[in-house]
Amino acid sequence: MSFSAPAGALSPTKHPPVTLFSGSPTYLMAAQQLRTVAGVIDLDPGIAERLSVPKRSLVVNIPIRMDDGAVHTFIGYRVQHSLTSGASKGGLRYDPQVDLGEVAALSMWMTWKCGIMNLPFGGAKGGVACDPAVLSSGEKERLTRRFTEEVQSIIGPRVDVMAPDMGTDEQTMAWIYDTYSMKVGYACPEIVTGKPVELGGCVGRREATGRGVVYCVRAALEELNIAPEQATAVVQGFGNVGSVTCEELHKIGTKVVAVGDRYGAIRNPKGLDVPALLRYTADAKNKLKTVVGFPGAEEIGPDELLSTRCTVLVPAAMERVITGANAGKLRCRVLAEAANGPTTPDADAILASSDTYIIPDVLCNAGGVTVSYFEWVQDIQQFMWSEDDVNNELRKLMMNAFGRVRKLAKDRNLSNRMAGLSLGVQKVATEQAKRGLFP
Ligand code: NAD
Repeated sequence: MSFSAPAGALSPTKHPPVTLFSGSPTYLMAAQQLRTVAGVIDLDPGIAERLSVPKRSLVVNIPIRMDDGAVHTFIGYRVQHSLTSGASKGGLRYDPQVDLGEVAALSMWMTWKCGIMNLPFGGAKGGVACDPAVLSSGEKERLTRRFTEEVQSIIGPRVDVMAPDMGTDEQTMAWIYDTYSMKVGYACPEIVTGKPVELGGCVGRREATGRGVVYCVRAALEELNIAPEQATAVVQGFGNVGSVTCEELHKIGTKVVAVGDRYGAIRNPKGLDVPALLRYTADAKNKLKTVVGFPGAEEIGPDELLSTRCTVLVPAAMERVITGANAGKLRCRVLAEAANGPTTPDADAILASSDTYIIPDVLCNAGGVTVSYFEWVQDIQQFMWSEDDVNNELRKLMMNAFGRVRKLAKDRNLSNRMAGLSLGVQKVATEQAKRGLFP
């Protein structure tokens, strides 16, 4: 008797497709980019299939006692996209929107980023669905320690190394370091990067992502024959990456004319006073650390922020903010993607017909993971570098990668994004091909 599927059911198949992440638009975007790049570099189909799904994904339940005595359960994720090139590496995000698909997409982008930078890491990412703005410090500490305990079996300095991302910081890394060290019975600073300097953190790590963004912006402006002092900038996001980007742009004489965060946006066409804005957001009275209410600027809507005329637009907040709906309204010459995945493929298609010079995320924000690599190396060797050494080495690696991306883009008439992704995917694909398939 032959099997016949009931009407409406999936037909029986020997090789069911992987659907675990397909409910996530961010994952679908990362998968679509991989498919496009596979065509560009003529990727072996077997390797393309291996790279299209993360190596390992863990979903955990994190129960913690809240300050009011109630027990609340949070859901956490750790996804390791690739372990081919070495330990996997990637940030830990605390954000209410975090889900498995988003974390999987971010882990995939980390693999390509480590590949472009020639770092001995694969990509990973983690997240906990929570709002850090409403958690007390004690609640965040308990959440972080319990999360570390729950993912302990799949992390390790040679297996998977975390770092800060949206909603997490040096203090979060210190708690992970301490929890892991208590478990293994010795101090193990190389389990995380982006720690406080006093605990084996690398000088310049906190600033590294924003610094790397501005190294790339300078190189792009130079190619376009625009002096940094003649340029203006708009920055979305004023957390770690956005605020340091503003500071570094200010140092090279570029006027920051508008910034925004999750609470709103502000603009001053004559240029915002960046040092004063940094003091304003760091003030203890400014509980939300928001740019909103900064004197000497007008308030504008979030859509107006992205469409403000400027030389350099820097999305430094979250993914999928430049879409098919608003890409046509951008009025920038350079789009410097400090955030991960800020531009959707349909927005890319619209921007391709304009003269927008895109510095893709996998290159533009790679300064963070690069200095994380320096930190990991220093912790393993127990030999610390000076900040000058860190910054010089960062600039050297970033400019080398920038040059390789631009050369490939010109040689093969590719967009900067396709060139960057091609380099990243090719690096790990070559390693997989040479290592072969186990068993
Ligand atoms: P952060 O938590 O320090 O700051 C995030 C900022 O984005 C905050 O100012 C927040 O208010 C703002 N924001 C959140 N939602 C927003 C919204 N809907 N609209 C406008 N602004 C919003 O995070 P971060 O570490 O600066 O990370 C920002 C981006 O950079 C993320 O995409 C992250 O993955 C990426 N990134 C970070 C690093 C790093 O070293 N921290 C490295 C590489 C890439």
